[in-house]
Amino acid sequence: MRRWNGWGDDATSMDLSEAARAMMNARLGPGLPGLDATREAMLAQVPASRLTGAHPSIQSDADTRFAMALGESFADWIRKRFGALPPVPDGVAFPESTEQVRELLDLANANDWVVIPFAGGTSVAGHLDCPISERPILSINLGRMNRLLHLDKPSQLASFEAGTPGPLVEAQLRAQGYTLGHFPQSFEYSTVGGWVVTRSSGQQSLRYGRIEQLFAGGRLEAPVGTLSIPTVPAASAGPDLRELVLGSEGRFGILTEATLRVSPLPEHESFHALFFPDWDTAEAGVRALVQRKLPLSLLRLSNGIETETNLTLAGHARLIGWLQRYLSWRGCSDGKCMLMLGVSADTRTARHALREARRLLAGHGAVYIGTAMGAKWAANRFKGPYLRNTLWELGYCADTIETAVDWPQVKPLMLAMEQSARDVFAAYGERVHAFTHLSHLYPQGSSIYSQFVWATAKGGFAPNFERWQKLKAAVAATIAAHGGTVSHQHGVGRDHAGHLIDEKGPLGMATLAQLCRHFDPNKIMNPGKLLQDGGPWAS
Ligand SMILES: Cc1cc2nc3c(=O)[nH]c(=O)nc-3n(C[C@H](O)[C@H](O)[C@H](O)COP(=O)(O)OP(=O)(O)OC[C@H]3O[C@@H](n4cnc5c(N)ncnc54)[C@H](O)[C@@H]3O)c2cc1C
Repeated sequence: MRRWNGWGDDATSMDLSEAARAMMNARLGPGLPGLDATREAMLAQVPASRLTGAHPSIQSDADTRFAMALGESFADWIRKRFGALPPVPDGVAFPESTEQVRELLDLANANDWVVIPFAGGTSVAGHLDCPISERPILSINLGRMNRLLHLDKPSQLASFEAGTPGPLVEAQLRAQGYTLGHFPQSFEYSTVGGWVVTRSSGQQSLRYGRIEQLFAGGRLEAPVGTLSIPTVPAASAGPDLRELVLGSEGRFGILTEATLRVSPLPEHESFHALFFPDWDTAEAGVRALVQRKLPLSLLRLSNGIETETNLTLAGHARLIGWLQRYLSWRGCSDGKCMLMLGVSADTRTARHALREARRLLAGHGAVYIGTAMGAKWAANRFKGPYLRNTLWELGYCADTIETAVDWPQVKPLMLAMEQSARDVFAAYGERVHAFTHLSHLYPQGSSIYSQFVWATAKGGFAPNFERWQKLKAAVAATIAAHGGTVSHQHGVGRDHAGHLIDEKGPLGMATLAQLCRHFDPNKIMNPGKLLQDGGPWAS
């Protein structure tokens, strides 16, 4: 069963080796395990619903409403752990078809209810927060809309109901020999619709593309009507309306169906590990590689601190000790950087791509160590977030912040993001363990994905929330100062809405606000996300 106050299925957990525990202790001091609130205590705080009896399809019990109140951001996490209940929706509906979504939207619009679409609930940017509102709040849960509607094999197009989560997408396609190839780390729960409206990126985006390359068309039910976007291979028919749906974050309406570009299952897939002596050679190597445009499916470059952290987390101390000695002998010691490289293609193409990639990277000092670490990465590719549960139980908090920027700024921004986090915690006389990888590489630049671990502070929700807010604000300011995007893959939500002006400018913000008014004149759709409520660019 899915955990209510942590990541993932409660049958799965990730242990931390003794060496990893010792590393946390050495870097951060002892953790402070919190006293977790119980679910019963949270439910007891849920206020009476303003939608009881409003419509037979709307459930208004506290249990169901509470489950829709929060996503997976750090703020959501500590609210659950410390028992700090945020506003919860007044009711939850579980439509099973586009027609039922349409009816619910009409009902909400006619009665002036706020609507928050809820899909996999994996947002890490406050997309699902309920506002404090005079108006009743209806959560529309898309979890029952999870079918493959049509597979057009000649065109390699698959139409899904928008609430279909990753495992059901792949199971329904693989049964017919196809894959979408979209694997965000939240794959277990996140959905087709969530991916499209938050502009998600999967681990193998190098081969399959980001969701905006995969989204061919679909159907959006907006308060003012239906937007149907037909699929065509390409068009010069004016602005592309798919772009209105991508990244719309539930502000314009509810995506009920999405047609996605799928691929035949690859004949060959393998993941390989290489090490570089230091960051500069590594960055030069991966930049040259991605600009060579070989048919690879994954490149993931860890900086020195992340490499050491991952090797410590890996367990198998004797094997890792042997590997460290071997790498050291080959010139990769302190500060070495690990690259994970994937190929997913027909056998001949894969063989050629791998040979060329290894040749090019060897010219940049890379040491190739084979597929054992790659196979382990692939087996655990969705398990990393489970460590957040383990860390919390040991008394440590963890969060991630990501962006993307052009190549000249990649290293300066990566270092500055980590440093601004250290400065925030230093002001409290505390430490943070900050480490980074590049997970989505482009000829023009790269995403930067930094992870932060720090000891839980005494005093419950308020001091921990304060530290997190300062961390987010400091790193966001650093990103803006280096010309990075507000988000490469997690979207804007409520948490990043205040920084969107840095990227879109006044005219861009006014355009977005005008689009919100156009699709949703009564302002019922997911207020406060993408555009701040009450701010200068409120819709
Ligand atoms: C552990 C973890 C790992 C993650 N890894 C990645 C990653 O590798 N790559 C990545 O891109 N993201 C990642 N994320 C972020 C998150 O999974 C994505 O933002 C995902 O796309 C959200 O999808 P969801 O179905 O869970 O949507 P939800 O979280 O339920 O909703 C997100 C937003 O979309 C709106 N929405 C959802 N469905 C619809 C719809 N059909 N119509 C209109 N609005 C809708 C909601 O109202 C909300 O505003 C990760 C999150 C976690 C917790």
